Amino acid sequence: MAGRRRKGKRLGLLVLVILLALVIAGCYILWQRGYIDLPFGTESASDSTASDGSDSSGGADIVTENLSIHFPMLGNKSSGDCTLIKTGNTEVLIDAGSEKSSAATLVPYISEYCTDGVLEYVIVTHADQDHIAAFVGTNSAPGIFESFECGTIIDFPRTNKDTQVYKDYVELRDAEAEAGATHYTALECWNNANGAARSYTLSEGITMNFLYQRFYEEYSGDENNYSVCMLLTQGQNNYLFTGDLEAEGEESLVEENDLPECKLFKAGHHGSPTSNGAKLMAEIRPEIVVVCCCCGNYKEYNFGSMDVVFPSQTFVNNVAPYTDRIYVPTLYSETEGFVPMNGNIVLSSDGGEVSVRCSASDLVFRESEWFKENRTWPSAG
Ligand SMILES: [Zn+2]
Repeated sequence: MAGRRRKGKRLGLLVLVILLALVIAGCYILWQRGYIDLPFGTESASDSTASDGSDSSGGADIVTENLSIHFPMLGNKSSGDCTLIKTGNTEVLIDAGSEKSSAATLVPYISEYCTDGVLEYVIVTHADQDHIAAFVGTNSAPGIFESFECGTIIDFPRTNKDTQVYKDYVELRDAEAEAGATHYTALECWNNANGAARSYTLSEGITMNFLYQRFYEEYSGDENNYSVCMLLTQGQNNYLFTGDLEAEGEESLVEENDLPECKLFKAGHHGSPTSNGAKLMAEIRPEIVVVCCCCGNYKEYNFGSMDVVFPSQTFVNNVAPYTDRIYVPTLYSETEGFVPMNGNIVLSSDGGEVSVRCSASDLVFRESEWFKENRTWPSAG
């Protein structure tokens, strides 16, 4: 009898150990793929600033309210934009691409941080599908507008678009306004017109500032040039978002605004050779660059030049003089469609140092296998 009891105990212990191992393995896989965020995130070695006390967890010299800027993966191999900015209980969402079905990935991600279900500000840079589709969503994956209450929606003053996804976006945006949201264009914001403001205070020391570029008012044959541009300022730190603005738009942006040096630049047009121009880079001298693309996709559109594949060599050449801290959420995979590259990318700061935390890997773009096979780092000077 005693022997049987011991055996039973041992069996029970074995089952417990196996279950525990399964749970740990499951968590690890989910974390690696970026589906969950464990408290012990993978901090870049170069970002460990605890020694000088300016780390966000330090608290010794907090300059402003804490700020985090998220670049989540989009759930498919299409390049597109989505940025979630959070400070205190205030969230700002910029764009929701890349496809309608991205809503299935983005809504749960955003819900994790937007716990009250209210996005205080929604910025929509321009009317291309890879920036608006997840606002719409699908029957099985309700979009951003259906899933969250929106406070103020600020979008593009102009468009040449007549696509179904654009019409769907407008219908849902207007329904959101009907339900109580405020809707302005970036031009109204710039002009402080009709109740809109050029600058919004998000929390202590953190402001969201709309910039001017001429295609808010002028025609462009390239939809990308209609992109809304915004500068987020946190104490001495600046973070720049220009959507898919192309070279002509960037030139206007540089002429019309007194741009500061920037801690973060969300790469223009997914790292395209037609954006991220040398003039803009010289003004903002970015320290960290996030390229919202599925690295290496769209090879079929290369027209004989690998340079149009995101992130382009021209982009690398233009950014390289200022930084090699370049991050990319996903990588194109012929067998799986896409896999995480850096995964979900999160910047955070209390106004001092900015730390970067990635769900899949902390390797900067330059150190990646894809870079080594497809791109070169320009030699200094
Ligand atoms: Zn785009």
